Amino acid sequence: MADYGVVVVGAGAAGIAAGRALKEAGASFLIVEARDRIGGRAYTVPGPDGAAIDLGCGWLHSAEENPWSNIAMDAGVAIDRTPPPWMRMAVPKGAPTPKEIAATAALRAFRQHLDGAAKHGIEDPPASHFIPPGEPYAGLLDAVSTFYSGTELRNVSVRDLARFEDTGVNWRVATGYGALIAGHGADLPVRLATPVRRIDHSGPGIRVETDSGTISARAVIVTVATALLAAERIAFSPALPDKASAAAGLPLGLADKLYLALPDAESFTAETRLFGSVERAETAAYHFRPFGRPLVEAYFGGAFAHQLESAGEEAFVDLARTELAARFGADFARRLHPVALHRWATDEWAGGSYSCALPGHADDRAILATPVDERLFFAGEACSVRSYSTAHGAYETGLAAAAGALAAVESRPR
Ligand SMILES: Cc1cc2nc3c(=O)[nH]c(=O)nc-3n(C[C@H](O)[C@H](O)[C@H](O)COP(=O)(O)OP(=O)(O)OC[C@H]3O[C@@H](n4cnc5c(N)ncnc54)[C@H](O)[C@@H]3O)c2cc1C
Repeated sequence: MADYGVVVVGAGAAGIAAGRALKEAGASFLIVEARDRIGGRAYTVPGPDGAAIDLGCGWLHSAEENPWSNIAMDAGVAIDRTPPPWMRMAVPKGAPTPKEIAATAALRAFRQHLDGAAKHGIEDPPASHFIPPGEPYAGLLDAVSTFYSGTELRNVSVRDLARFEDTGVNWRVATGYGALIAGHGADLPVRLATPVRRIDHSGPGIRVETDSGTISARAVIVTVATALLAAERIAFSPALPDKASAAAGLPLGLADKLYLALPDAESFTAETRLFGSVERAETAAYHFRPFGRPLVEAYFGGAFAHQLESAGEEAFVDLARTELAARFGADFARRLHPVALHRWATDEWAGGSYSCALPGHADDRAILATPVDERLFFAGEACSVRSYSTAHGAYETGLAAAAGALAAVESRPR
């Protein structure tokens, strides 16, 4: 049984941030990761031309304050500052249709209404409560909620939305956000392909039981996604029912990206966006030519993405072809070929994409983040009150947990 000061469970953005802080402090620690790679929901793969494709996080949200921006700059990694297509009305070809213009106005008005209501309200109704009666674009409002929160408005806490802080500045890393995060953890001590099954914190030391043996530690940082905590995929002894129930109040929404090779790429304007439909919730958002590349990134969310995941990978491609055929013709759509897709709900070590507080459950984030006995710490995007669902939120919670764990180790001699 190996013995460490701190064991970090999970090598995603939070676990890597914690590991780096522990390393800088000279602590004895080990990161234990179930997958055969680090990064978790930050996941870059090579595209057909070798250029990076982000199947998980892609945007440095609140970029000018985002710690990953500084990490990129310090590492000499180039940052792309092109504003994202959702901040402008820019379609890939021709002019937006009158319905697209009206739908965009409806989205903006709804967002403002929701922000106002959320900031001043004392109750925590579902966000769907604020859809104006008879709203013709109610389907699109729900679709956008599935892209933003991973779930439909009826499942979204307005209080949680109001707490989210975003500067509105969004940058990207052409070589991949996932690659940047994994690069930050490249020289950390990580044991890959080692799922943690049980954490026994009943004795003076904590026993972390994995498939390849038990590790002991004086402090442990758990960074796994809420879907896994709620399903009690790691057993705690003594049990931690408050953590399981807080995680259940913060379920993982679902967002999946499908990349398609774009035929006749030069005839489409780079960095533009189109909704498959502005009248349905069951639709995708298509980002044309990200970084100017001959690709389309199709974004699917919520219950619709779950449905497609169950139907298999081809269902995503069929849906994209059908929606884009309606706009650019059947011949064009036939020539769209899939390049990469990741199904995050089916992913054994995630179970979804990013957390969303159910109505009435915004305070579960603080409950989840509270340490147990000042030696068992929780981190990960869902623990962030102001930057949840993001890679920088995960980073900040990882740093906070590392500071707590270091204090725990110092105050508890072996
Ligand atoms: C499609 C998509 C798009 C996104 N877009 C953005 C974006 O543009 N910008 C942004 O900021 N964020 C975005 N996100 C969210 C962002 O990727 C996540 O919030 C962040 O990466 C979460 O990091 P984490 O460390 O909290 O969790 P994770 O990355 O899930 O890390 C937890 C780690 O724990 C491991 N693990 C799980 N169970 C066990 C176990 N039993 N034993 C050992 N290890 C275990 C997992 O394999 C994983 O590596 C997106 C996510 C997705 C899926």
